[in-house]
Amino acid sequence: MASRILIVEDNARNLRLLRATLGGAEREILEARTAEEGLHLARQARPDLILLDIQLPGMDGCAAARALKERPETRDIPIVALTALAMQGDRERVLSSGCDSYLAKPASPGQIRRAVNGLLGSASPASAAA
Ligand code: MN
Repeated sequence: MASRILIVEDNARNLRLLRATLGGAEREILEARTAEEGLHLARQARPDLILLDIQLPGMDGCAAARALKERPETRDIPIVALTALAMQGDRERVLSSGCDSYLAKPASPGQIRRAVNGLLGSASPASAAA
């Protein structure tokens, strides 16, 4: 079964790289450039996973993650956070906002694929197939 991934990233170059890293025959990639647009798409399209940049114009990724986890229709979608923040405590801030996994930028294609595949695998048990 194809999986649907929503990428929320404001930087056009990063977005292109992420799409190239994650795209494929069994993947549908949706894109949003702001958190607000990402929330809208997540509620409408119900992706299997969200790749979420933390530094976004307007609402940031942590606020978006909290909003996603507050809503029953988006609560169970795994979130992989991407952040350039390097300060101590940021990892905790990101994870406590509801993100399931955390990658520091720049993340390699291998790191991104491992994080995404790990969460997609664990997010599709028999309960979701019925
Ligand atoms: Mn950004």
